[in-house]
Amino acid sequence: MPSLAASHYDLAIVGGGINGAGIARDAAGRGLKVLLLEKDDLAAHTSSSSTKLIHGGLRYLEYYEFRLVAESLAEREVLLRAAPHIIAPLQFALPYEPHLRPAWMIRAGLFLYDHIGGRKTLPSSFGVDLHASKWGAGLKDRFHKGFVYSDARVDDARLVVLNAMGARELGADIRTRTRLTDARRENGLWRLALADSAGAVSEVRARALVNAAGPWVKEVRDQASSTPADAGVRHVKGSHIVVPRVHREDHAYILQNADHRIVFVIPYQGEFSLIGTTDIAVEQFEAPVVSRDEIEYLCGIVNAYLARPIGVGDVVWTYSGVRPLYDDGSVDPSAVTRDYVLKLDPGEGGGAPLLSIFGGKLTTYRRLAESALSELKPFFPGMKGEWTRREPLPGGDMPRGSLPAYERALAARYPSLPENLRRVLVRRHGTRTPRILGEAKTVEDLGRYFGDTLYAAEVDYLVHQEWARSAEDVLWRRTKCGLHLDAGQRDTVAAYLREQYGR
Ligand SMILES: Cc1cc2nc3c(=O)[nH]c(=O)nc-3n(C[C@H](O)[C@H](O)[C@H](O)COP(=O)(O)OP(=O)(O)OC[C@H]3O[C@@H](n4cnc5c(N)ncnc54)[C@H](O)[C@@H]3O)c2cc1C
Repeated sequence: MPSLAASHYDLAIVGGGINGAGIARDAAGRGLKVLLLEKDDLAAHTSSSSTKLIHGGLRYLEYYEFRLVAESLAEREVLLRAAPHIIAPLQFALPYEPHLRPAWMIRAGLFLYDHIGGRKTLPSSFGVDLHASKWGAGLKDRFHKGFVYSDARVDDARLVVLNAMGARELGADIRTRTRLTDARRENGLWRLALADSAGAVSEVRARALVNAAGPWVKEVRDQASSTPADAGVRHVKGSHIVVPRVHREDHAYILQNADHRIVFVIPYQGEFSLIGTTDIAVEQFEAPVVSRDEIEYLCGIVNAYLARPIGVGDVVWTYSGVRPLYDDGSVDPSAVTRDYVLKLDPGEGGGAPLLSIFGGKLTTYRRLAESALSELKPFFPGMKGEWTRREPLPGGDMPRGSLPAYERALAARYPSLPENLRRVLVRRHGTRTPRILGEAKTVEDLGRYFGDTLYAAEVDYLVHQEWARSAEDVLWRRTKCGLHLDAGQRDTVAAYLREQYGR
């Protein structure tokens, strides 16, 4: 590829959520000069507000989304291999409710789920007696029969950051807190106006523009294109609540509701359970928050199953996100397709293409990136081919692919550090953990202690290596320490960032 001036890029990508970060990494690895623009923090919006599952989506079978489910099921194994530190297998128990779905239908669905995705390492599904086994932990006595199947869990915000780090290591320029304010075609190139959080404005040129702005996809498309968009986006809010752990076993529950929806109850951050989600069509999609009705709806569903009911007063944290779904005309927000759709506007005379991304899931981001680059291939004929299927994400290169083997090696290298601290750091940073721990012999060597597992050594690393700027970036996205720290401790993190970095 011919070399470009400093402010000239092959590909500019708007949106530092999972789709933008995934495309940036893939494109950089194929030899393109890439710029990624994110107006806030990486994963500040939908990509940190998910149910945090890498899953086929059992319920999508009922909507005949076989392509999406098969691709997602296959991606589970690919992503488990690429990032075993932030993605882990998780089993789900489904209590049988004969009036909601008959057993034959559940068995048929699980048979498909086990077979259409080329499952290799995850266990297959099976029926269980909930009463006589761990699979019924925390449930009411009336539940006897159930089914168990496998999917995986992920740290969604970290998945985005790892993709951005991977992109940077391949030469991409990642600019957070930088908004695209204007985009026009000029002499077969994109001329892009940018504004950073300090108000500084600048201009760059790019051969192609990818619009991965998630909920803002239409705004960015309208900004960049003089012709009205022929594709729409449906904004569907989904909220989660976090409560003290409802049972002590490792598995999650998938609970059916009379409205035909399902709700997950997932062991979360050791001492908590994560419960969600809702599906509410919204017009106003900036800064979504959970409503009291949503909290009551989620509590109501789980209380139909749990032996010890939960209430609004048990909720320790909530978060809401907006799904930027492709508008397929469905009336019911739960029925709108979760599949992704790519719309290419090739530009006048085949120069300066604009590729807009609608919909998608965390689970399919890698395949979505491959599809995006195959759409752009005609504009970059010298671009290299697909490569991400077998390449680990940063920190995911475990010796012999084994996380436990790596944990043993780390224990031998840092024998005096608390086992829990080592375990948590490995699940955030994988094989990059020594970059934080350095030559530390004891926790005193890790600098100021903020509470839970958070020390200055990690905060500094997050600032220098992972684009963290605010306490929110550190406490709620790069880590989830926010859940374990009290308000005073969280303030000390903010004060530290101000003192050390003037933020
Ligand atoms: C409640 C809920 C639960 C979900 N659960 C799952 C799940 O368990 N598993 C799964 O696979 N998927 C799940 N999903 C879907 C998944 O989270 C989304 O598909 C995915 O995160 C969308 O990523 P994105 O990159 O398109 O959007 P986003 O993450 O929103 O990223 C878009 C980014 O673009 C930036 N941006 C916008 N305009 C500009 C501009 N002008 N300049 C610069 N930057 C700009 C925004 O700031 C934003 O950060 C869930 C979604 C929701 C809402």
